[in-house]
Amino acid sequence: MCRGKQILPPFRSSMATPGLNTRKLSVTLTVRYTQAQLTKDWITARVSAANSLEFGLFCRSHLKAWAKSDLNNWNLVNGSSPVFSGPYLIPLLSWIVPNGGVCFLGGVVKPSENIMTEKNNQADREKPADWPGGSPGGISATVGRDGAAEKVRENFRRMVAGDAAPGEWAYSWRRELNRGGFRAVDFLMEEIVNSGKCIGCASCVTICPTDVFDYRQETPVDTRTDACVQCVLCTEVCPVLRPADQDMDALVQYGDNPLDEGYGPYVYGLYTRSTDQEILARCQDGGLVSTLLTFGLANGSLKGAVIGDVLPEDNQIGRHILAKTREHVLQSAASRYTYSPNNLALADAMGADVNPIAVVGVPCQINGLRYQQNSAISQSMVKWLRKNVALTIGLFCSEAFTHESLDKLAEIIGTERRKIRNINIKGKVVVRLDDGEVREASLKKYREFARPACLYCTDYSAELADIGAGGIGLDGWTYTLVRTKRGHEALQAAIEAGLLQTRPLSDEPRGEFLMQKLSADKKQNRPHPAQMPTYQERAAQAYLDPKTYYTKGPGARKAEPDNG
Ligand SMILES: Cc1cc2nc3c(=O)[nH]c(=O)nc-3n(C[C@H](O)[C@H](O)[C@H](O)COP(=O)(O)OP(=O)(O)OC[C@H]3O[C@@H](n4cnc5c(N)ncnc54)[C@H](O)[C@@H]3O)c2cc1C
Ligand code: SF4
Ligand code: SF4
Repeated sequence: MCRGKQILPPFRSSMATPGLNTRKLSVTLTVRYTQAQLTKDWITARVSAANSLEFGLFCRSHLKAWAKSDLNNWNLVNGSSPVFSGPYLIPLLSWIVPNGGVCFLGGVVKPSENIMTEKNNQADREKPADWPGGSPGGISATVGRDGAAEKVRENFRRMVAGDAAPGEWAYSWRRELNRGGFRAVDFLMEEIVNSGKCIGCASCVTICPTDVFDYRQETPVDTRTDACVQCVLCTEVCPVLRPADQDMDALVQYGDNPLDEGYGPYVYGLYTRSTDQEILARCQDGGLVSTLLTFGLANGSLKGAVIGDVLPEDNQIGRHILAKTREHVLQSAASRYTYSPNNLALADAMGADVNPIAVVGVPCQINGLRYQQNSAISQSMVKWLRKNVALTIGLFCSEAFTHESLDKLAEIIGTERRKIRNINIKGKVVVRLDDGEVREASLKKYREFARPACLYCTDYSAELADIGAGGIGLDGWTYTLVRTKRGHEALQAAIEAGLLQTRPLSDEPRGEFLMQKLSADKKQNRPHPAQMPTYQERAAQAYLDPKTYYTKGPGARKAEPDNG
């Protein structure tokens, strides 16, 4: 075994830092109302005639000019007005004016359930009893043009079925946007969530500037649809909906001439193992993830980390947490194979301005984060994420499992569910019980309880992360894939501090073999999610296993007829 730097190849990159190719709002949006229309009289007349409040979108320059003139005349910035009222307006305006982009024209925003609260964890699955239904605060809001979202959906479906390349599909909504906007939440819910294609990454929830969504049962819930300001951010960041983004390479900043062997650009791979005994006692594989986080928090290069925690009453059900101490990281170490919506903790980090942060997540979450960072519409959340996410660690992932799978697993291995301490998947399911006993189950059997939504995910190895980490190859070590300079520097620093041991991948070549195979299973064999059947269609086929749908199931390519 060799330690430390010896086996690390030099980072093969001059690491140019190209500017982000961010398209500005003014390019993608045509304003719905001209600045001249936005006078006090115009708004007052409109509000009283319609007996409703209307939301609008404005580009930054219009908004600024308007804010300076009418808003100041109305003394809105300092107090209240006959039309606009409510305790939420002033904070909203003070956020809107410097950031530009999205403007609320009137409307009393009901204090919403906060996406960070316990209420949004799996335990709470009901709408609040006192929710009036319809619109925020009981006010009827007029949003979007009739049928626009449905029209976008029709265009989208037509493009997917036709010859248009995936990169062009986004124009099905961009075109409608240019014509005055549409309520994107309706499109997202219909196309992704109601069709069972949502993988639960929570990106739409965290990016929405008006808090339209709650998050329950691993999906967004459009509790406050009428608060939608037609900004389309939720559709822009959805990794299931959005075709691959051309700008992403510049954002991730892979090394120059990175290797690419079918699992995304990377610079080098190796096995790593923590030297910290406390971490080794708690981690899933080699403890790389927890070591990088605790080291970063200790040396000040990180102030927090978005990771997965467990519910206090059930140690196999995941939830999100913003870890700020070594203790938080240790208590959350090891993997839960149920879905943990880690990205919800991004809102906690931004709300408290904890930075810089690391983000740990399965590939769908890292992709969702990158799409948020690279959103075409620049607002404060996007800027914050670009500036303050210092490190992303992606966990390799073939699939996650349903909550019901835990009962099934307990039944298969003949124990009670509450006694399961840890699950690890190594070609078979290895279960460690509370008393230290280890039992095994067949992965084939357990896979019947994989999360059906994972079919719509084509990334095994977290291709957009700074570092990828998985349990393939050497037992007790973490298979580590370094993709970017940030990843390299974080790893190198921990090795130099004596916190990580390293071994070359050639010490267990099966790791690389599995890497290629498992990535290909998800990537090469699956079409774009938009071209896949819906959950309902798969249920009708009685085939919900995501892993084998396109290899052995109804989606498998039929063998060419042998004409010889
Ligand atoms: C759902 C899931 C599926 C996986 N599938 C594979 C696979 O097919 N092949 C493979 O090689 N590796 C897979 N992994 C990764 C593997 O289990 C280890 O997480 C990885 O090897 C890192 O080990 P470690 O000892 O370095 O991490 P540790 O130091 O133990 O840290 C693990 C980190 O993961 C976070 N975490 C735990 N559960 C979750 C969760 N459900 N969602 C998001 N974050 C979580 C924890 O907060 C912790 O920070 C999977 C992980 C998960 C969570
Ligand atoms: S996949 Fe993510 S972004 Fe898309 S709808 Fe689901 S939670 Fe929202
Ligand atoms: S396979 Fe893993 S990364 Fe993909 S959607 Fe499922 S949990 Fe997310």
